[in-house]
Formats: sequence, C-alpha cells, structure tokens
Amino acid sequence: MKIRILFAAFLVAALSLAGCTKEQPAVPETRKLKVVATIFPLYDFARTVGGERADVSLLLPPGVESHHFEPRPEEILRLNRADVFVYMNRFMEPWAESVVKGVENRRLRVVDASSGIALSRRPDGSAEEHEHDSGGMDPHLWLDLQNASTIVEKIGEAFAASDPANADYYRKNAADYRARLAELDDRYRRGLENCGTRTLLHGGHYAFGYLARRYNLKYVSAFPAGDAEPNARQLVEIVRMMRREGLRYVFYEELASPRIADTIARETGAKLLLLNGAHNVTRDQLKQGVTFIAIMEENLKNLREGLGCR
Ligand SMILES: [Zn+2]
Repeated sequence: MKIRILFAAFLVAALSLAGCTKEQPAVPETRKLKVVATIFPLYDFARTVGGERADVSLLLPPGVESHHFEPRPEEILRLNRADVFVYMNRFMEPWAESVVKGVENRRLRVVDASSGIALSRRPDGSAEEHEHDSGGMDPHLWLDLQNASTIVEKIGEAFAASDPANADYYRKNAADYRARLAELDDRYRRGLENCGTRTLLHGGHYAFGYLARRYNLKYVSAFPAGDAEPNARQLVEIVRMMRREGLRYVFYEELASPRIADTIARETGAKLLLLNGAHNVTRDQLKQGVTFIAIMEENLKNLREGLGCR
C-alpha cells in the first residue's frame, strides 16, 4: 500500500515537473508518431496519412465484432504510449470518452472522427433502447465517402499538430488520399445511376443508411433495430417486398453469420452478395494488406450486380 502511495506521489511530482504548459508537446524528431485507431477504416486512413512517419495500430483485434467491443486494460495501456488516438464517435465506441479521461498521458491527442459531421438516426431511432444500443443513432458515417474524406482531413490535421516538423507530409498524404476517395465517390455515383432497382435489401444490421442516401438508394435492413433479429412478421414483410419489387439479390454482411440473409434468399430464390461495412477485417486480410478503398470497390461491384446497374 505504502509503495502504491509513494508511486502515486512520484507520478504526480513527475507530471507537475513536466507540465509547464497545457499544450501537448510535439513528437521528438527521432521517432515515429504513435497512433492508435479503434476500427478498421480509421486504422487504414491513419496509416495512409501517416505513411512512413507513423506507427499505426488497430485497437480492435482482427475478426472481432466491433459494436460490442470494449478494450481490456492491457489494450487501454497502449494509449499511454500513443501520441494520437482516433475513434469514430460515442455511438460506435461508447467506452472511448471515459477511457480517454482515465489515461495519464498528456501528450495524447484525441480525435473524435465524427465531430462536425451530422449523424443520422436509424429509421427506428425513437424505439426503446437496450444496453448495447447506440441510442437510435447510426454510427456508420465512414460508409459515406464524403464523410470518409472529411475524417481523413481531420486525421491529417491531428498528425500535423502532434508532429509539426512533418506537417506538410501528413497534409499531402491526406490530400492525395482524399482525391482517391473523391474519384471512387464519382465512380459510385456513375455506377449506381442506371439500375434495375434502387432498393438495397440487406440481410445484415443497419449500416448502409449513409451510403444509400448519398447515392439515392432505398435501404432496407433486416435488422432495423440494431441488434434485434427480425421477427417472423418482419421477415414475411421483407419476403413480400422482394416479390413485389422483383428483387433477385439479398446482401449479407462481413464477419457475421449470414443466417437471416440466407433465410430470405432461400424463401425467395434470391442470390447472396457480400456488402462489406469494413468495420473490421480478419487476421489474414490484415496480413494481406486489404484496404478500405479495395473493400469499397468490391462493394460497388456487388451493388452494381445486385441492383442490376448498367
Ligand atoms: Zn455496424
């Protein structure tokens, strides 16, 4: 006990000696910027912007479902050694704000990727909320490519502020990457212009509301209320709608059992296509260096096939 108190006193003393100014000190020029990002898109944006000057790590273990993830103490410790921490928003990572408050690292710069971007509600947004629910808000901002671009800019500015000696480098990388996102956004717009249907039927959780709105699609998720599986009546509704609209494809999500999508497909004779929300990737994909842009290119290909676009 005594040792703990002594240690705490030592820490306080060390912190107050070091703490002459409230500004975060810049990264020493002899080492790379250390960045921790919570989910895959942020990790990919950060490593692209950081290039060879940053050491970026993904907090989410590969393959793990992202919405229910909470970091363990040893994972939180990584923030003690980081210069920048990037998370999506308090609906995606409800634990982030309190974890950051508990971190004794005055160098740490925290980026709420969604700050300044308008969040939308899920269609059921006013329905009762349960423990793990996001309060009816849709956290999947990154699936709107313009939002992704805004987030990349924000990451570039955070890196520039933490490591001013390399500010131009980060800003240039961010600008290059934003140009690629704009080009992809353009391909989406053109690729989804003339389609047999504008109804995007997703047998996965409500994640593509932002994407659908951007390209003027009607988004139907079989899980409109977050986690809750559709009940029999809702499934019947979906099957009816598919028949009425003559839909021939149902999309399923990454890293989860496609049980519901499967059920709908079997009932209607529709085919299955992957629509990848890019929340997380598998260990193999991480090793192979899969990128957010590659995932979104694959999504465009599947959307064009599933919606019958010319
Ligand atoms: Zn999600």
